[in-house]
Amino acid sequence: MKAIHLESLVFRDVLPKRFADYEQFLSTRRKNAILGTAKKIKGKRIIHINTAPEGGGVAELLKSLVPLESSVGLKSEWYTITAPPGYFTMTKKIHNALQSSPISLTDKEKAVYKEVNRNIASDLSLLPCADIYVIHDPQPAAVIADFHQGAMISRIHIDLSNPNGEVLAFLKPYFKKYDCIVFSMEEFSIPGIDTKKAFILPAIDPLVRKNMPLGEDACHTILKKFSIHPNKPLISQVSRFDPWKDPIGVLQAFYHAKNEIESLQLILVGPLDVKDDPEALEIFEHVKKNAKGDPDIFLLTDTDDMLINAVQTASDVVLQKSLKEGFGLTVTEAMWKGKAVVAGNVGGIVKQIRSGRDGFLVNTPYEASERIVEILKDEKLKTRLGKSAKARVRDNFLITRHLHDHLKLYAEVIT
Ligand code: UDP
Repeated sequence: MKAIHLESLVFRDVLPKRFADYEQFLSTRRKNAILGTAKKIKGKRIIHINTAPEGGGVAELLKSLVPLESSVGLKSEWYTITAPPGYFTMTKKIHNALQSSPISLTDKEKAVYKEVNRNIASDLSLLPCADIYVIHDPQPAAVIADFHQGAMISRIHIDLSNPNGEVLAFLKPYFKKYDCIVFSMEEFSIPGIDTKKAFILPAIDPLVRKNMPLGEDACHTILKKFSIHPNKPLISQVSRFDPWKDPIGVLQAFYHAKNEIESLQLILVGPLDVKDDPEALEIFEHVKKNAKGDPDIFLLTDTDDMLINAVQTASDVVLQKSLKEGFGLTVTEAMWKGKAVVAGNVGGIVKQIRSGRDGFLVNTPYEASERIVEILKDEKLKTRLGKSAKARVRDNFLITRHLHDHLKLYAEVIT
């Protein structure tokens, strides 16, 4: 496909995928249901727009969803946006406010938000017309003020359980103009909007490098480079360096747990260069200061998929100590690897883990440390949690279910 680079839109090429490769995860009934829905909307053109091509859950989803949509007969394309410096600092403020921070936007910030969105809208109108536009998250949501073609879907991925009313009020008029708004779960639904609503939980792709089975030796080879000891107990958190991911809470949990398990090691891994997350470097420096040069704490910023796979696979316990979480693909990824996960009792994580069955949900760093120690001292518990976690992902959180939910939604909004 021809690459298009307009001033505010960048075409993102994706590696092709074959739906047939995913049939191994599906019953015949499920496979036929997916293909049956796809047939109803065959040849329809779908445009997805989000902010960043790498480094967060939305990019991760689109890398698999877009080629899978194409493989079942749609014409799906993915674009990311460009914007002047400072725009993503402002949109991270919007993100934080929607996740409850007491933040106000200045008039200037609101004006910049509108202007950038006007530019995106104007570039969108230069592309061949699509049947459906899926606009992911708030950064490009205001395109709707100047662009309305086909069916317009706003897909919000963030934790909207307790949004800041002022910033939500600023965005509401835009959300109201969409033909449909999709949230990850009903608990995030915005009240006072008549627009059609849908709820789709995200999912992981079992066939990408990050989620493919990785042997013990391969893990050790990858982690040896960072001097991580293969025979000492290991816990980890894979996440952007973001206050909502509570990396300081992770350090506190680690220090508590280490009082009982002296040889414990911790890896925190996250990218520093995500376009729409300019806070990362500052949070990383803060975490580094709090890690106080402890030789058993490894702070990694190399975000290669095989490294992420190795960190999750080699960990005895995977943490996701979030304070807010739209869904938490990192939780799903670790569960799929059969890991015992200890995670924040918040947002989309509670849809994944049934505490005590597929992992543990915790409310404080202290509780997290207690669960870490409990799991590390009880091999049977660790195995039981991991086994149940893997089955839970297989039954609920694989990309094939996500694909089907999208196809059903497209069929509904078109007809
Ligand atoms: N991720 C990554 N490298 C990192 C940290 C995270 O590739 O160093 C990936 C992670 O594996 C997951 C996604 O980024 O696929 C994060 O998605 P999640 O839903 O957990 O959180 P978000 O960043 O969207 O808030």
